[in-house]
Amino acid sequence: MKSVSNASLRALNTFALPANAAQFCRLEVAEQLSAALEQQAASGLPLFVLGGGSNLLLTQDLPAFVLHMATRGKRVLEQQGEQAIIEAEAGEAWHPFVQWTLAQGWAGLENLSLIPGTVGAAPVQNIGAYGVELADRLHSLDAWDCQRGEQVTLLPQQCAFAYRDSCFKREPGRWIILRVRFLLTALEHAELAVDYGPIRQRLAGVLAPTAQDVAAVVCAVRSEKLPDPAKLGNAGSFFKNPLVSAEQAQALLAQYPAMPHYPQTGGQVKLAAGWLIEQAGWKGHREGDAGVHREQALVLVNYGSATGAQIYALAQSIRADIAARFAVDLEIEPIVI
Ligand SMILES: Cc1cc2nc3c(=O)[nH]c(=O)nc-3n(C[C@H](O)[C@H](O)[C@H](O)COP(=O)(O)OP(=O)(O)OC[C@H]3O[C@@H](n4cnc5c(N)ncnc54)[C@H](O)[C@@H]3O)c2cc1C
Repeated sequence: MKSVSNASLRALNTFALPANAAQFCRLEVAEQLSAALEQQAASGLPLFVLGGGSNLLLTQDLPAFVLHMATRGKRVLEQQGEQAIIEAEAGEAWHPFVQWTLAQGWAGLENLSLIPGTVGAAPVQNIGAYGVELADRLHSLDAWDCQRGEQVTLLPQQCAFAYRDSCFKREPGRWIILRVRFLLTALEHAELAVDYGPIRQRLAGVLAPTAQDVAAVVCAVRSEKLPDPAKLGNAGSFFKNPLVSAEQAQALLAQYPAMPHYPQTGGQVKLAAGWLIEQAGWKGHREGDAGVHREQALVLVNYGSATGAQIYALAQSIRADIAARFAVDLEIEPIVI
């Protein structure tokens, strides 16, 4: 295992942005982590852990020792009645892993089908889709704590999970997630999460939907809605759905009665960032090769030769406009370098 200098990351970020890593090392076996960390220490560069690069905006070269997680392996660890603990190494690709769990007879991750990226990155932003978040299915995970220099096992309640957030996202450089364990349920006993509008509609004609049916419907809806990064560079939803006070939501609803809004426990109201951006006329907007997707206002895209700085400038213009029109602060979802 050797690290290389000045390595291109273009093929390792789904925006397909041009940027180089000062030092780059691919970790294929977890046992080689200490050797990799020795090289990182010798380089004098800060550590940056890279998975599939599907939640990253590289606006410049990465002045870091990039550790690319490519460790593989997945297994059913333990069966406890109708449930099982299933473990996967950090470098496993997320969607094939979800499909594998279903093929093994275990339900729980079907709503998270077709999300790009790796298993190890999934807890970082507590990936979520169609009413299910990673935190709902996590059993535990093993991580290297760079601050303390030791491997730890963390339970969900120790990960400070929130909407698209966790302790791993808040403390960049501290954690290297090595493997993740999920608590899943036998297919025949699964309680499916099918309340989310488009999923419920598509399953309306199915008498007794299975987890595989849910996975198929989720894949179909996602494929229609979201651009494929292999064809058009993007990082999925670019902004988080904002939370506002009940008073602000009421004031906005008086002006925009059709505005989608989702009251949360605790009194705040979640708004749909995509709706706000579309209302403001940004959908389909293009500045050079940086643009807002034609069908999905929440997704910023690279039409070919955009730089990360151009995508970021477009995002800032959108944020300023949404703040001026609706007094709503949009938060960027991907990690911006
Ligand atoms: C088309 C598209 C659709 C998407 N849809 C969704 C969606 O529905 N829901 C959703 O939540 N997200 C979605 N995403 C975002 C993205 O897929 C997820 O955030 C995914 O988990 C990122 O995985 P990755 O391996 O690509 O992470 P990377 O982009 O490589 O890294 C993301 C962050 O995690 C850190 N990281 C990566 N691996 C590790 C590790 N092993 N240990 C510690 N830190 C690590 C990195 O340092 C970085 O800070 C979408 C993205 C795209 C392109």
